[in-house]
Amino acid sequence: MERKPVHVSMFSGGASSAYVAYNMVQTHGKENTILFFTNTLWEDEDNYRFMDEVAEYIGLEITERMDGRTPEEVFYDSRFLGNSRLAKCSEELKVYQTIVFLEELRDVHNLEPILYFGIGPHEKHRADNLKDFYEHNPIEPIETRFPMIDTFKSDFDIKSIIENEWGIKLPRMYDLGFSHANCAGRCVRGGYEHYKHLYQVWPHQYLKQEEMEERFRKHFEKNVSILKKDGKPYTLKEYREQILEKLNQDEKHIELRELVKEDGHIPCVCTFS
Ligand code: SF4
Repeated sequence: MERKPVHVSMFSGGASSAYVAYNMVQTHGKENTILFFTNTLWEDEDNYRFMDEVAEYIGLEITERMDGRTPEEVFYDSRFLGNSRLAKCSEELKVYQTIVFLEELRDVHNLEPILYFGIGPHEKHRADNLKDFYEHNPIEPIETRFPMIDTFKSDFDIKSIIENEWGIKLPRMYDLGFSHANCAGRCVRGGYEHYKHLYQVWPHQYLKQEEMEERFRKHFEKNVSILKKDGKPYTLKEYREQILEKLNQDEKHIELRELVKEDGHIPCVCTFS
């Protein structure tokens, strides 16, 4: 029997994925749509508030999948501290959970999923990567759609629509200037610039991450770190003590500029915008 299509919005707690979900429900009806979220247990509490309010506004419950481990627990299980090059937390807590869920839709419910992402034209390369991934990794290819690139006009202000028309306050991480809202600023794929920002606006979260890194190093007696300097480990503790706490000194700004050059472009693979 031919599978019935079901439209699945990949909801990440960001403004664009919220709007894409809303549009998907308007176009295909609640009965043919799913609002899907994978929980890493590290999300900021205000993201949960935002997601709940959006779900209520569009009239669709969130379908949540969760491995049950935090990124830190994944690092312990794999004996590997995630970093900008390899983040097993993303693979296990997000990607694997998603694939299992999509295969279940097919096998158990005889539904054919079509995935919707809130990724915009400025991240076209990520859209291409996701398209390629879902063409080749599930048992059969899965169709992906990117309405922010292919359907909507580029000049409308989604954030203003959500706040002013829907009456829903955006996640506080937007106000705090984060480029994405995953894992409450503790993303191991963040580079020097990201962690500088985290230290300045949410020092308690920086310290949590620093403690996590120190715990891992001590437990496995390994000289590893989230950040790298000249190809070698450079811990968050070192970064804080040597640079971030001394940014009132001009020469530290010069050192910081050099470090930021190591960031390159590290897109977070978890955010769907
Ligand atoms: S947002 Fe970053 S830390 Fe969180 S699961 Fe994804 S890669 Fe890991």
